[in-house]
Amino acid sequence: MARTSPTAITARTWMNTHVRVIGVAYDDIDVVPAPRAIVLVTEELAVTVVEHSPRFVVRSQHVAIPLPHTVQLVDYVHVPTRPVVDDDSRATFAAILARDRHRCAYCGRGGARTVDHVHPKSRGGGETFGNLVAACAACNGRKANRTPEEAGMPLLWVPRAPRDDHKRQRAIWRELAPAP
Ligand SMILES: [Zn+2]
Repeated sequence: MARTSPTAITARTWMNTHVRVIGVAYDDIDVVPAPRAIVLVTEELAVTVVEHSPRFVVRSQHVAIPLPHTVQLVDYVHVPTRPVVDDDSRATFAAILARDRHRCAYCGRGGARTVDHVHPKSRGGGETFGNLVAACAACNGRKANRTPEEAGMPLLWVPRAPRDDHKRQRAIWRELAPAP
């Protein structure tokens, strides 16, 4: 059940580790600093479902509990969740090129190094996940200050905020699976 970690934890470093928090339905809730997770466990708001490996016992005057890797909330308690990234969230050019894997959204060629505002910036188009796409220099120059419709250059896909929910949920199932 336990995951391996490359480095052993010490009394000095455990506080810098992070613990995954999952909900009653094994849904991904958050990743919190280890001290916060210890508080959740000691206050009986959460139980450890996967211990940190290698094992390390957190000791204080009042508690001695194994450092968790994953804790599960015992009820629908409120913990602060990740900031939500949506299509209207501001995006960096680097994030757009990474999301689109440097593929030009107009011609589909790889190696794109520029980012295009689908709705032109000069006409109010935002620097958001929903309005930015990777584009090669040729397409970016040809499209210029026009919308895809005006330029006759349809987008090959609809730009959206990147989502890694599925990846995180798969990681949870993997961690909870009995060792073969
Ligand atoms: Zn192109």
